[in-house]
This record gives sequence, structure tokens and C-alpha cells, in this order.
Amino acid sequence: MDIQCTQKELALLQEVATAATSLQRETYLVGGFVRDKLLGRPTTDIDFVCVGDALELAGAVAARFRPTPSVDYFKSFGTAHFFLRPDSPDTPPYDLEFVGARKESYHPSSRKPSVEPGTIQDDQLRRDFTINALAISLNPTTYGQLIDPFGGIGDLDKGVIRTPLSPDTTFSDDPLRMMRAIRFATQLGFTIDSNTWKGIVDNAERIRIISQERITDELNKIVEARIPSVGFDLLYKSGLLKLIFPQLVALVGAEYKDGQGHKDNFYHTLQVLDNVAKSSTDRWLRWAALLHDIAKPATKRFEEGHGWTFHGHEVVGGRMVPKIFTALKLPLNDKMKFVRKLVELHLRPISLTKENITDSAVRRLLFDAGDNFESLMILCEADITSKNKQKVKRFLDNFLWVRQRCREVEEKDHIRNWQPPITGELIMEVFGLSPSKPVGIIKDAIKDAMLDGEIPNSYDAAYAFMLKKAAELGLVPVAGQ
Ligand code: ATP
Ligand code: MG
Repeated sequence: MDIQCTQKELALLQEVATAATSLQRETYLVGGFVRDKLLGRPTTDIDFVCVGDALELAGAVAARFRPTPSVDYFKSFGTAHFFLRPDSPDTPPYDLEFVGARKESYHPSSRKPSVEPGTIQDDQLRRDFTINALAISLNPTTYGQLIDPFGGIGDLDKGVIRTPLSPDTTFSDDPLRMMRAIRFATQLGFTIDSNTWKGIVDNAERIRIISQERITDELNKIVEARIPSVGFDLLYKSGLLKLIFPQLVALVGAEYKDGQGHKDNFYHTLQVLDNVAKSSTDRWLRWAALLHDIAKPATKRFEEGHGWTFHGHEVVGGRMVPKIFTALKLPLNDKMKFVRKLVELHLRPISLTKENITDSAVRRLLFDAGDNFESLMILCEADITSKNKQKVKRFLDNFLWVRQRCREVEEKDHIRNWQPPITGELIMEVFGLSPSKPVGIIKDAIKDAMLDGEIPNSYDAAYAFMLKKAAELGLVPVAGQ
């Protein structure tokens, strides 16, 4: 296996080596950068470990660059890092992280170890997986030599995640490593060694001592992987998922009654997530896929003569989104609103696949989806997971038809970014009203008339309609209007 570094990276490593040599500090490249470079994966985070004071080394390295980057020092952790400005605005900066080689020992109630200075061997021993414990010397007589005490290269070759020490101790010491093992397996397409896997299954309960933020960081990395289902399936099978995301586990399984079953909504959801991942890298669209059917268990009924139904699961699911985002400490901002909206709307395009659909129904979908129309269509197309190829083709063709109808109506009526041509302020001014119920009634009536095709999407038509509607409510324009 070869390290594939750019000229710029090689020059950068040379600067670190020169600074380290002049401080007589034994220094190594270590961790994710070595792993990813050996795998040929893009990476800009570079971790250095040195025997002795890493803060001084970071300062000495930074001083070799112009303009000199400002260094963040974390004295109590014995680490320091700085960013090196990118060559162009399109490329991310390098993040150089320096840490002093250390020996760690753990206490059962915390994932924070007590730390003392150590050798490079001690430092490699504290790392979570063999593939993350590789180091490359930056020292004068051994420059470029790989130090692989645990067979990390072999595991990279075989595609295996394995702990250097006993899995039980590794995961009990720092249970976040269980999430990391599953996340790396997902990102790299690796398998988890069977002993390591047993360590995860046996220690799953220990995840409770990990902060939600760290768990959610790992979940997001799984969501953003090329085939995210791999990670969720492993989380489920390890017993971690029921502890960190019980609402997803509630989707598992198919119930049978009177010989009728429904699909396993967990595996359906994972397939929808993978399908979305093929079309979009958007983290939040992927979250919408993960949550689109989340209320199926809560709304499940068996109707005699009809079978299983999940009436209203999109509405109930929409309401669950802010709760789940709160529990997972995901942001409660416009991203959450986007996910909620997609969950709420995910059945709407299907209802438009019938023949003879009216312009009015198309306008309502365009209006409700707005800028998220394309995302919604990606979700709906991903939601077709039937094994019957003919059925899939028929549904996809139907969605093509919906897209075309939406395009036609949008070109004609410009609904997607519709702004009310008549504002509430104008209504108040014309009729001398203060903020009150009739203002809302008139505004909604104008919107409905436009969506129903009663009036065209224009200011003049809306103004005339406003006068008519107001008259029905017994309102007359004030003098001068
Ligand atoms: P990524 O940057 O994609 O998350 P990474 O392997 O670089 O992957 P970092 O969190 O950046 O992960 O950590 C850098 C290195 O520090 C890892 O490669 C590993 O050697 C070590 N490390 C990080 N977290 C842990 C942990 N919880 N337990 C043991 N070693 C860890
Ligand atoms: Mg990293």
C-alpha cells in the first residue's frame, strides 16, 4: 500500500519534520490521515503526535508559514491545532492537530481517562482500531517509515475493523468507540471482526455514559455515508439502536392477522434512505427519509376486510420530528422544519398519480412544497421499494407524469415562490382595520381563490377579489382608498 500525498502535502510534512528536528522532538504522523491516505480517500485533517510538548511544536510549525496561522492551544488537553489556508476558496483548509504522546487509564464511570506522558508505543496502544493506530515517522533517520504494531495494514487490506487490545476493555473504557466502529464500517465498507463485534454487543448498555452530541455526530456521519443502511442495520443488530433511537426500532417487524401482513417498516425505511442517498448528498433530505414513516407504529390499525392501515402517519410523524430532533440534539431550526415538511407531505405526490388530476390539486402541491418540491419528489421516488419490477416502473412513470403536470402548471401560474400579491398591511390600510380576524380571512380567501383557479395569479385580480370578499364581510374601503 502506498501513501498518496500531493506535492503540497509532502512539503507541509517536511516543514513539520524540520521544526520537530530543531526542537529535537520525536514526531509522527498518526491516525485518520495515515489510514485515509493509504486507502486513497480524500482527507484534510492531519494528526501529529510527538514525544514531549506538542504545544511548543505546534507554535514552531505555524511560525514556518506565511502568513503565520494563529494556533489554538488547549493546554489542559496538551493539544494544539491550526488551519492552513487553502490554495483556492474551493478547497478546504488543512487542519493540523498536534498532540503529545500519552498513556491512558480509564475509570468505569467516565469515558475521560487519566492521562500521563508516554512513548509512541503507548500512544498507539490507546487508539481505538488497528487501522487508526498506524504511524509514520517524521524523524531524521527513519523519515517515512511506517510503524504498524497491530497489523493495521493487513486489516486495511482485508477491510476489517478490529481493536488492538481486548474489545471488552476498549469498548467499556470508551463506549463511543462502538459507534465509531460501526461508523467506520459504514464509511469504508469494512466488516467488523467477530471478537470486536462481540465486544460491542456485550457493552452496548455502556453507551449511556456518552453525551448525546457525540452520539449524534456519529449518527450524522452514518447518515452521510454512501450506503447508510449498513450502519443502521449494524446499530440495530448490536443492540445500540434501541438505546439511542428507540423510535426506529419500533418500526421493526411485520405483524400478521387473518393471514395478512404488512411490510417490515424498518427495512423499508433503510431502503428508502439508501435510495435517497443515491440521488442526494443532502444530510437533511436523508433524515427525512429516515423519519418519513416514523409514526407507522403509532397509527397502525387492522381494519376488518381491508387489512393494515397507517392513516395519518404523515401528520403524526410530522409532529414527532421536533421531538426526535430535541432528543437527538439536532438543530431546531429551518433544517428541522424542512424535515418535518417532507414527512408531512410525503404522500401528497402519490395522490396526484391518479388520472384526471385537476390543476387546482397540482397548484396546492406546488404551493405547499414550495422550494422543497424537488426534494419531495426525490423522497417519493425513493419510497417505492416494491420487489415487483413492473410495479416499480409503473409508479416511477406515474411520478414522471406528476413532475410534468407540475412543470406545466408552474410555467403557467408561478406558484412555487408565490408571495401573496395582497399583503395583510394593504388589507388593513384599505379597510382601516387593525390586526384582526377579517384580515386573515381575506388573505386566505385570496390564496384559495388563486390556488383553485378562480382568479389568476396577479395583483389586479387579487385586488378586485379582495374588494368582493370584504364586501361579503360587510367591510367597505375607507375614504381615499
Ligand atoms: P474522522 O476524522 O473521519 O472522524 P479519524 O480516525 O481521523 O476519523 P478522529 O476523531 O479525527 O478520527 O481522531 C483521530 C485519531 O484519534 C483516530 O484515528 C484514532 O487514532 C484516535 N481516536 C479518536 N477517537 C478515539 C477514541 N474514542 N478512542 C481511541 N482513539 C481515538
Ligand atoms: Mg480525523
